[in-house]
Amino acid sequence: MFATSEFGRAFARVGNLLCLSTVLRAGAAAAAMAALSASILSGSVSIVSTQETVFDPASEAAAPAPLVKADGAPFRVGIQAGHWKTNELPSELASLRTATGAAGLGWREVDINLVVARRVVALLGQSGVQADLLPATVPEGYKADAFVALHGDANGNTAASGYKAARATASRIPEEDDALVQAVKAAYQAATGLTDHPQTITQNMRAYYAFNNRRLTHAVDPNTPAIILEMGFLTNRSNRTLLMQQPDLVAKGVAEGILKYLHETRDGMA
Ligand SMILES: [Zn+2]
Repeated sequence: MFATSEFGRAFARVGNLLCLSTVLRAGAAAAAMAALSASILSGSVSIVSTQETVFDPASEAAAPAPLVKADGAPFRVGIQAGHWKTNELPSELASLRTATGAAGLGWREVDINLVVARRVVALLGQSGVQADLLPATVPEGYKADAFVALHGDANGNTAASGYKAARATASRIPEEDDALVQAVKAAYQAATGLTDHPQTITQNMRAYYAFNNRRLTHAVDPNTPAIILEMGFLTNRSNRTLLMQQPDLVAKGVAEGILKYLHETRDGMA
């Protein structure tokens, strides 16, 4: 879930707790979530962090041969754990420091995003890709062969289920972005069994700050294919159970999609 700064002020209170990209469209349901947010803020509902499983990429097998491009340079991929370290966002993104992601009883979106992101980075590394684990702050003009922001969704309708992926409306490389979207969607759906939920893709996703290299320095380079993936609805019990209890499976779907894109679109060779 992600809310852009233009919505941040009006929804700042709810924004601390919910991914607004869908809640903003939820109409009456949003009011119910706002009430839940208020109860959480008032302390009547407690927020408990998810326990993160210790995961040590160094314990994996020896480093594989690099996955290289046609020119021999290794592929590089950025995996952003949505909302991770928002308190460290630079001044140009100060308004988003309170966008800490969705949360509920016993879970926080940021924890789930980070658990999956770490596994995706490890899986890509095992395939010879130079993978960077990125926090909310994107390095200035970040250049890579692919950038994927990982988020978890929230919706006032707890029956809402599924994943969705989007790229910037204003992208300078829409074909590359779309190829990455399609590759990740196909592999993610195959791995997780979740279905696409495109009707809740919002302008907040298509105008995600990490894509906004026209206005921001802490954004991806204009020639870096970039997408945002909402991995599932954390407000849906079965989606949440999948994301929290099977992060390896979720990460496998993301990583395989990225690898498919690198191989097919960039003509990579293992
Ligand atoms: Zn989010």
